[in-house]
Amino acid sequence: MKNFLKLIQQTESNYPVINQQELSHRIRENAVHDLDSLCADFQHMQSVIKSIQRNYEAVLEENKQLKLMLKNLVNNCYCWPGNRCDRCQQILKSLLRENTEERSKAVSDHQEIVEQLRKRQSRVKA
Ligand SMILES: [Zn+2]
Repeated sequence: MKNFLKLIQQTESNYPVINQQELSHRIRENAVHDLDSLCADFQHMQSVIKSIQRNYEAVLEENKQLKLMLKNLVNNCYCWPGNRCDRCQQILKSLLRENTEERSKAVSDHQEIVEQLRKRQSRVKA
């Protein structure tokens, strides 16, 4: 009986401690698990970004090759600068248009990024 009472006392006094320890252990385990899955997410995003980057580079390279091919077509044509045939005029016009479109897109992208940074900065100050 004395031993039994001692056991109950021990259990009673130890129970909340064990519970607390177990709880913090579980919280720690959950946190580690969350971090693991977060890490996996980041790694996945990184691989997605890398593959997008690779694709974009491939497209850019293809684009460059096509432009070069078109320029060569113009250079190897029977016509000459100042007196271009209809086909070459169209090619040159499309090349020029593409260049200006690319530039304006880059400029607007840059402006948008700057605008967002300004907004974020003003939010931080406020
Ligand atoms: Zn021509």
